[in-house]
Amino acid sequence: MDDTVSPRKAAIAARAFKDGLLIEEAPLIGVIDTDALRGTIDDLRSSFPNFFQHAFAAKANTMPAVLNLIRGWGMSCEVASPGEYQAAVRAGFTGGEIVFDSPAKTNWEINAALSHGATLNIDNFQELARVDAWLAKGKSKSIIGLRINPQVGGGAIAAMSTATLSSKFGIGLEDGDNRQQIINAYASRPWLTCLHTHVGSQGCPLDLIAAGIAKTFALAQEINASLGRKQITTLDIGGGLPVNFESDVVTPSFGDYVAALRAGIPGLFAGEFRVVTEFGRSVLAKAGFILARVEYTKEQGGHPIAITHAGAQVATRTVFMPDLWKIRVSALDAQARPKKGPKVVQDVAGPCCFAGDVVAHARALPLLEPGDFVMLHDTAAYYFSTPFVYNSLPAISVYGVSGPDQGLDFTTMQQEHALV
Ligand SMILES: *Cc1c(COP(=O)(O)O)cnc(C)c1O
Repeated sequence: MDDTVSPRKAAIAARAFKDGLLIEEAPLIGVIDTDALRGTIDDLRSSFPNFFQHAFAAKANTMPAVLNLIRGWGMSCEVASPGEYQAAVRAGFTGGEIVFDSPAKTNWEINAALSHGATLNIDNFQELARVDAWLAKGKSKSIIGLRINPQVGGGAIAAMSTATLSSKFGIGLEDGDNRQQIINAYASRPWLTCLHTHVGSQGCPLDLIAAGIAKTFALAQEINASLGRKQITTLDIGGGLPVNFESDVVTPSFGDYVAALRAGIPGLFAGEFRVVTEFGRSVLAKAGFILARVEYTKEQGGHPIAITHAGAQVATRTVFMPDLWKIRVSALDAQARPKKGPKVVQDVAGPCCFAGDVVAHARALPLLEPGDFVMLHDTAAYYFSTPFVYNSLPAISVYGVSGPDQGLDFTTMQQEHALV
């Protein structure tokens, strides 16, 4: 794990401290470098041909300020719950710019999506029957698809792998007579014009993702061929590009992903289908970090421990699955500048009242002292944006920052100082 603080991040942290953003009442903040975010989105859009439409997976970060920026920079929005749906609507995404995926859509949610013209990816045959019932009574502008599970297997993190044999998502392509049932479903429903898959998130290698998309692409072609008409016009290939949590290097890049898709499924780039993607983590994770004050330090059983304000409430997966979700933590001094000094193996713990609340176990860092700060890298997706309400800890304030290192401009994205 490379805990070097880049000059950009060092400049941002030092300015945040100087500007009084890290105050007694706010010993923990989130920061999003919106220039970096914009750069990532530009890279995403320029790495793919123009007929790819990129929907941001809102579960990675539903903060209104973030959704607003992302919409302004040309992405649409993938949502998977009524809360995310509402957040997307509030951020100004129109029905046609929203893709609604969820394995547990209620009738109310189906009605909302179909009335607003959101793209609806149906998860299973029971949901399909509900959509049939809705369409028997009403008319919808929605693009409607089926989510299939290509059953190509899992990646390094079982909990993030959605294309295993027994995953809870989509219709298992290899099970029983599902393949034929899917073809029949399209044959009898001209309004089914989309086919969707999402192979998994973090931990899925590119060749696994490409294999899942290849099966989906082949199925779409098979369905159209068997119907003798070009009924499926949209392929939604999901998200899941993994993020490198080991260093600042972006790997794999969107360019690597496109290369893997071009090698495995050249037809995807022929323009036969409009293609939708649903990236979340890879769009946002590396654009942000957490800064947290070290409140106390101690030595227990000869083991140094720093008690900071960043724990399970903002780094939930890392705390509960420390081996699978290691993140980089850097030591900063009392003015939030990179801390120097010999490295000492220590634990970096959080404020929650349970013993496992540790964000870095036995990590070699300059020895932390009370009043210092720590930086938790790559945490703008699924970390401070997805808080765990435990101990009624206060919600976190988040700042956006842009501009040159010497003239940084901070804006408040989410203000929350009050202790509950
Ligand atoms: C979570 C999810 C995504 C986004 O995954 P990332 O790993 O954040 O890119 C996209 N589509 C669906 C259906 C998801 O559940």
